[in-house]
Amino acid sequence: MLNRQGRPTAAGSAEAAETAGTFTGNRALIQEEALSFEIGRYDTTGVDLDEPEDFAPRLGALAREGEIGIPGLSEPETMRHFVKLSQKNYGIDTGLFPLGSCTMKHNARLNEKMARLPGFSDVHPLQPVSTVPGALALMNELSHYLVTLTGMTTVALSPKAGAHGELCGMMAIKAAIVAKGEDETRDVVLVPESAHGTNPATAALLGFKVREVPAAEDGTVRVEAVRELLGPEVAAIMLTNPNTCGLFEPQIVEIAQALHEVGAYFYCDGANFNAIVGKARPGDLGVDAMHINLHKTFSTPHGGGGPGSGPVVLSERLAAFAPVPFVTAGADGSLTLVEHEGDAPDGSPFGRITAFHGQMGMYVRALSYMLSHGADGMKQASEDAVLNANYIRAGLVDLMSLPFPDHPSMHEVLFDDEWLKDTGVSTLDFAKAMIDEGYHPMTMYFPLVVHGAMLIEPTESESKASLDLFVAALRDLAMAAKAGETARFSGAPYHAPRRRLDETRAARQPILRWTPPQPVREAAE
Ligand SMILES: *Cc1c(COP(=O)(O)O)cnc(C)c1O
Repeated sequence: MLNRQGRPTAAGSAEAAETAGTFTGNRALIQEEALSFEIGRYDTTGVDLDEPEDFAPRLGALAREGEIGIPGLSEPETMRHFVKLSQKNYGIDTGLFPLGSCTMKHNARLNEKMARLPGFSDVHPLQPVSTVPGALALMNELSHYLVTLTGMTTVALSPKAGAHGELCGMMAIKAAIVAKGEDETRDVVLVPESAHGTNPATAALLGFKVREVPAAEDGTVRVEAVRELLGPEVAAIMLTNPNTCGLFEPQIVEIAQALHEVGAYFYCDGANFNAIVGKARPGDLGVDAMHINLHKTFSTPHGGGGPGSGPVVLSERLAAFAPVPFVTAGADGSLTLVEHEGDAPDGSPFGRITAFHGQMGMYVRALSYMLSHGADGMKQASEDAVLNANYIRAGLVDLMSLPFPDHPSMHEVLFDDEWLKDTGVSTLDFAKAMIDEGYHPMTMYFPLVVHGAMLIEPTESESKASLDLFVAALRDLAMAAKAGETARFSGAPYHAPRRRLDETRAARQPILRWTPPQPVREAAE
């Protein structure tokens, strides 16, 4: 018998039933789900409203003439559609999410509850400012803690992601350079080889020329390598600390000094701030601007779970250029929202970077995280994040190879593919086999300075039991790879709703729009 997709269904023996398809194409709880366009009907609607009497639309020439073309589903069908799609998403609520550089930590339900308080969740960005004093107080308090934790002078809250924060910080640097009349001459930004792709992209977007800083043998950036590239044309460096190899940059203070000596600025990519909160303050290290991914370090959801939020902290050298809007506190404690450049009391904002005020819901969650942890709790979180990464390192180091064995790992541990040599298994195969074990793969092939990189970041929110199971699963896979069990890897994942997809094509030629299937022409006219 053939199923709906034209594939054979189970017949005969139990073994055959195990491997054959089913009539629906579903496999028990792994259910197929088509697009709403494919399952919907144009003549159905989940809402049944009476036609209003005596209703005369005032749209004039704008009135719709054709069908609206949106598929209709009944309410239960709609519910099932979206719940099924949500179940296909692997998230931090379903399992350990070891994606390095992304800090996928537990999003505490307390924070969710706070964000849903109607006074926060129902505010509208165009509401009169006089009606939202609580929101201003929250933004002011969050700003205070971000500035305190980083040892910086001020913060621009409004950027909506890490990359957006990078753009904001670099725009502040550009504004400072313009204010000094050096914009004709300072047009180079230094970016280490191991940088996240958003760093050079940000610099290039602002018209800077990108010059690459080579990494030392041990994966860190040396002050000599930076000095060699420094000159009056250098506007800034964009350096990540701890860097994307999971290592603390030991010469970061010297690098900052060298930059400042030639009048350049130090942009720190703060995506890895989770490793050092409460332990080190970027301001003390000489950083001039740094974005903070609230959705990484301060536990607000991401990866399909919620919008990003990338506040940028600025040093005294850049504070005056922070974009509007921002909240200022008067001597009497009264708060003012500065929304227009001309109203900035003692600065020259470079403009604004978002239409409104940023991601209010994320501000609430981040502040809730900070207040519920306290200073000691946040420090403990950083220590536990580092401990967890090193625990994984210790659990795998006899089987997998470390490119930089001499440095302790910070909050993430980086392996390379040296240990897979001659096994016939690649980093990609290994990652795909992890899916069969129920894990989201680690970050692969990044940073680029390491061949076949596998970057694992467990975060502090994993228990010892869940780390032990993860290590045991990876050990089992590693031993299978070394034992030549290539079949376990070459076709993996075997148990996922979809197997290996053409990811390059999906990225390069995405099909984002559904088009109705062409009616099949009658054959042989
Ligand atoms: C995540 C990340 C970014 C970008 O942050 P988004 O919020 O994804 O825009 C930049 N640099 C590093 C090192 C990161 O890990």
